[in-house]
Amino acid sequence: MSRRYVSSLVLTVSLAVTAIPTRAAAQAPATGSLPNVVVLATGGTIAGAAASDVQAGYTSGQVGVEQLLAAVPQAKKLANLRGEQISNIGSQDMNDEVWMKLATRLNELLAMPDVAGVVITHGTDTIEETAYFLNLVVKSRKPVVLTAAMRPSTALSADGPLNFYNAVAVAANKDAVGRGVLVVVNDWIHGASSLTKTSTTAVQTFLSPVRGLIGTIAYGVPEWYRGPVGKNTMSSEFSVSKSTVLPRVDIIMANENMDGALINAAAAAGAKGIVIAGVGNGNMTKSALDALAAQAKKGVVCVRASRVVTGQVGRNVEVDDDKMGFVASLDHNPQKARVLLRVALTKTSDPKTIQRYFDEY
Ligand code: ASP
Repeated sequence: MSRRYVSSLVLTVSLAVTAIPTRAAAQAPATGSLPNVVVLATGGTIAGAAASDVQAGYTSGQVGVEQLLAAVPQAKKLANLRGEQISNIGSQDMNDEVWMKLATRLNELLAMPDVAGVVITHGTDTIEETAYFLNLVVKSRKPVVLTAAMRPSTALSADGPLNFYNAVAVAANKDAVGRGVLVVVNDWIHGASSLTKTSTTAVQTFLSPVRGLIGTIAYGVPEWYRGPVGKNTMSSEFSVSKSTVLPRVDIIMANENMDGALINAAAAAGAKGIVIAGVGNGNMTKSALDALAAQAKKGVVCVRASRVVTGQVGRNVEVDDDKMGFVASLDHNPQKARVLLRVALTKTSDPKTIQRYFDEY
């Protein structure tokens, strides 16, 4: 079944089970008995602090979850909130240990009947990877909403408080159920599989360039555009536990005059998979292609993705993937391709099955 067909099927099913309200009909912030939302804090700039409110330099992960909650008292009108500190790191330091802790705790919390949804505060650098990982391994239809900030909590016009408020509103909103893991930043609601960071400094850094937005949100009132594309959460065949070891997968960027040295070095370092952030439609030089094909022959799963921000890497377009034993990333950017490949490798190293995963997830 082609990815396009699966996508439209998922979208149709999702639209059938989730009424898509217009902005006028969208849920206003709840009154009366409030849903319970748990906040899992991992660090990032949203919890960052600087010595002055107008300086560029700052340190991520300085503010604890209780301080984060106290800084946005308005959010308590949307949900009963309680927080847990999972880690307090800049997301450039995100790692498998925190991922397993996060996934395990999320699955525990979401299985509790009195928990309506979860908000995760995170750094912007790797939020797209964590969100996509969770999208593959969380076993619940309840809302899981990641949020972040580009400006530290101490900055003039910090963006964290409103992002947090909007994330709580989405996590508490019944219409967010069944849409997969979401990321809410700067008034936009992104799907985990679609968003990517596009600016190192701008508040408007996240785009969903290929698949578009799931919705938008203004001061806690969402407007929904679509359901999730691709298998996710309850329809995902992947799962992890605290002891899961994700195999090593390296990303190598293609460039003019590339040779096979880094490809061979990755395999020598123990990579079970290699993702090439190729030029254009997942292309690379002839000598890089030959080195990659040799590694594929030895059983390393090799995925062709692209360093270009938008568009797809199609199978057998300029490279004969069938002959060389490669996987085409389709619309997964290199960092998402790496996440999917690591999770996929816990089940199989058959490139044909892995190509199916890329088609379906
Ligand atoms: N380096 C920071 C982080 O990812 C950047 C941010 O959060 O905006 O934790």
